[in-house]
Formats: sequence, structure tokens, C-alpha cells
Amino acid sequence: MTTISPLIAGNWKMNGLTHSLDELAELARLLTTGASPRAVVVICPPATLLAAVAAQGASSGILAGGQDCHMAASGAHTGDISATMLADAGAQYVIVGHSERRTDHAETDDIVRAKAEAAIGAGLKPIICVGETEAQRDAGHAEAVVSAQLAGSIPDAAEQHEVVVAYEPVWAIGTGRTPSLEDIAAIHGAIRARLVERFGERGETIRILYGGSMKPQNAREILDVENVNGGLVGGASLLAKDFYTIISAV
Ligand code: PEP
Repeated sequence: MTTISPLIAGNWKMNGLTHSLDELAELARLLTTGASPRAVVVICPPATLLAAVAAQGASSGILAGGQDCHMAASGAHTGDISATMLADAGAQYVIVGHSERRTDHAETDDIVRAKAEAAIGAGLKPIICVGETEAQRDAGHAEAVVSAQLAGSIPDAAEQHEVVVAYEPVWAIGTGRTPSLEDIAAIHGAIRARLVERFGERGETIRILYGGSMKPQNAREILDVENVNGGLVGGASLLAKDFYTIISAV
């Protein structure tokens, strides 16, 4: 069986001012004074803090990521940010297709795939998010919805380049609710099967993160589930102590 090094990514969403870099400094202190983390650690701050997070995180091995990117490298797209710009600011990863983007900005699988391609083209590793709504789960369609999102959102280039998949059930994001461990195992197993069907051996090595109300209290049991190769963490990534506890649960 292929061993995959786990990855824990913090998504700060639209939270964080200059003083939030104090939390980053505290996380760096915890990471460098405690036991060495077994996970790759990524922080995805708002774009305004990206360069500072990349610079400040470097000495403690914390990597920086964007929360979204435009599919074009530059041009007349007021308010948007390109993958090239994120890379230029020091990012190594970028989240694409987060459910808040899919909902608030009507992002389709085609758009998400184009963004993932742009990320790869700029030398970034895209964290491609998929996940069903509560109504879709209740109707028994979770696996079909996620399979369709994977087929539409992951570019063919994933065969040669590193991509990360994040399974984030929409109803678990920011709600304090999580699927049962059995349900997480089932859907992560199905995602792995889809990746292997499409990419062969390469599909065995693609990280599949779980996201949705991961907390210090539940991180260990979720991270122990087969085919869970790390976490995408929202709320609990804002406090260094909580995020460190999750990283240490790997
Ligand atoms: C997220 O937004 O990616 C997320 C997982 O949020 P939370 O951990 O707050 O549910």
C-alpha cells in the first residue's frame, strides 16, 4: 500500500488582520518547540496577508496557500487574483471550488477545473473541494454528487502534477456537525476508487483531505479513518492552540 504524507491546511476564509500574524507566530512556536509535526502544514489566509504568512511561516515550515484564484494569468478582472500572483506572493497551494465559492459565486465544475489548471500552470498545488449538500445526502445521492464533481473539477493534468482533493460535506462546514466515521470512510473510499479509475497508480497517491467542523476534539478519530490523508480546517485554524492540537493528532 502506498504511504501518503498527511497534510493539514487551515482556511482562514475572510478572517484575519495584521494582528492575526501573532497567532501564526504562536503556531510556529508550538511547531518548533513541540514534537515535529508528521503533517505538511499549510495556512490559507486572506490574500492581504498571504505574502506575510509566506515570509513568516518559512522558518517553521508553515506553507502558504491562497483561498481562490482566477483562471486567467492577468487581465481586466477587477478584484480577482491570479494563480501567478499567489505564487509570486509565496503561495505553494491554492484552494479551488470551496463550497462557499461554488454557492456565493456560482462556480461550476468547469470553472473549478479551469482554476485548478491555472494553479498547476503557475506551479501551485490546487486543493480541489467537493462535497454534497444536506438535501443531496438525505436523498441518498452523496456519492453520485461527489463523483460527478470529481470528474468535472479535476484536470487531466493531475496525472503529472500534484493535486489535493478535499471532501467537505457542505452541511458540515461551520456547523459543528460531522458525518459518522463510517460515512466518512465510505465516501473517502469512493473518492479513492474514482481517482484510481481515472489516474491508475497515480490515483493511489493523491491526498484526500476531510473538511467540515474538524476540531481538536474529533480530529484524531477522523484522521484515523482509511483514505483520510489530512484535513482542511476552517474555524479551528484561527486559534494556534486548536490548530496545533489538530496537527498533532496526525
Ligand atoms: C472550510 O471552510 O473549509 C471548513 C472546513 O470550515 P470549518 O472547519 O469551520 O467547518
